[in-house]
Formats: sequence, C-alpha cells, structure tokens
Amino acid sequence: MLKKMPYVLSYVLPGYCLRCSSPLPPQRIFPLCTDCQELLNKYRIREKVCSLCGKPVPSESGRCLVCRERSFSFERHRSVFHYRGDFAYLYRLYKFHKHYELALYFAEVLQDTLYKSFSDIPGFSDLPLVPTPPRPGKKRRAGWDQTEHLTRRLSSYTGRRYLRILKRTGKTPQKTLDYEGRMNNIQGAFEPSVPPAKVPERCILLDDVFTTGSTLSECAETLKKSGVRRIYCLTLARD
Ligand SMILES: [Zn+2]
Ligand SMILES: [Zn+2]
Repeated sequence: MLKKMPYVLSYVLPGYCLRCSSPLPPQRIFPLCTDCQELLNKYRIREKVCSLCGKPVPSESGRCLVCRERSFSFERHRSVFHYRGDFAYLYRLYKFHKHYELALYFAEVLQDTLYKSFSDIPGFSDLPLVPTPPRPGKKRRAGWDQTEHLTRRLSSYTGRRYLRILKRTGKTPQKTLDYEGRMNNIQGAFEPSVPPAKVPERCILLDDVFTTGSTLSECAETLKKSGVRRIYCLTLARD
C-alpha cells in the first residue's frame, strides 16, 4: 500500500516526485526529487565486473566463471543498475504504467555508463545506437516499445545516430528457460532489416534488462552476419 501511494499521487498530480510525492521545483527536468535520485544511486552497479558480460565479480579476475565456459557474440556488455528495490519499482512505472517522462532520467544514467564503459573503443563518439527489436505485434498491442523509446531518448540526448536495423522473425523465446534453453530457442529469432551496405562497422546495441544475455548475443550474431564487426551492449539493468 505504501508503495502504491506515491504512484497514485504522481498520476494525478504531475510536478511531484514519482517515488515520494514531494513537490518538484519548476525547473526540475526529471520526475524525481534530488533525494530519490540519490537513493537510486544505491542500485547503480559500481562493483568490479566481468570484462565480458558485466556481471559483478568479487575481485579483479577478468572474466566471471560463467564467461570462462561460454562466449557471447558481442564484445562487451554493461548495465547501469541492479534490477532491484526502488529501481525496479520505478522501472515498472515506466514500462507498465507508461511514465514516459522517466526516460529522460534513464537517458542521463545510460549516457554516464556508456561513457565510463566504452569510451576506450576506437571511434567511440561516432558509434550509432541500435535497439533490440520488439516481438511482432507488441507495438500494435502496447502502443510502444520501451527499448526503442529508451534508445531514441538516448539518441536525442547524446546526438548519436539511432539505427533500427534488426527485426524479429516471429520466433519468440520462453521466459522460463535457462541460458542453454533460451539460446536454442532464440536461434534464428532475428534478421537484418536493411541491406548489408547500410550497416555500421561498430555499434552499441541496447536492451532494457539483461537476464541471460541470450537475446543480445543472438542479435549480435545476426548483426555480425550482416557485416557489423564489433558490437558493444548496454542495458539499463541487470536482473
Ligand atoms: Zn522523491
Ligand atoms: Zn561474465
């Protein structure tokens, strides 16, 4: 109940913090007060992470145990948040209750992680942003897709190119499957939506939440087949 109140208030009273309902100063561009923004920082991934998949690891050990056994088709993945607590609550307001105004805040934190995690890559400032594509019919049903929305926001926030160069073939992964199951199930789920001449040499591939990495890896595999040589992945949160 306590958790529901701020949402109800913010729904009827724009200009109030989405999390705690305190009034926001008129010049505030994020729908969160400074205290709540500070609190969200608690969920940012600041630990040492696996050099490949971005999973927090106990020490500077290079790759995590899982990535020593398997590989992904992308070069590197990083997330901004742990998918927990207040972050998960706000993300649900965005995804399921369409609080689109949160995307500007998400764009700012994504930009921060993008810079910290990938600025060593040659040609970093020109890397275009590519969203993972929604399932067929999803946009018609829901009216939008959160990953495309986030990517567009990040694109306008940073001035980077937005490229929609992937589409789903219709095969959909099962949420209940483990990594192996998902990998088998998702193979062939994507195809390029533009001819090879139109793909960039390198790109940043975006998704909202990283779970097993199978979606990003299969998208990266598809991009590589169409001529993209290096794919770097960025997600808002890690589950
Ligand atoms: Zn607040
Ligand atoms: Zn790893």
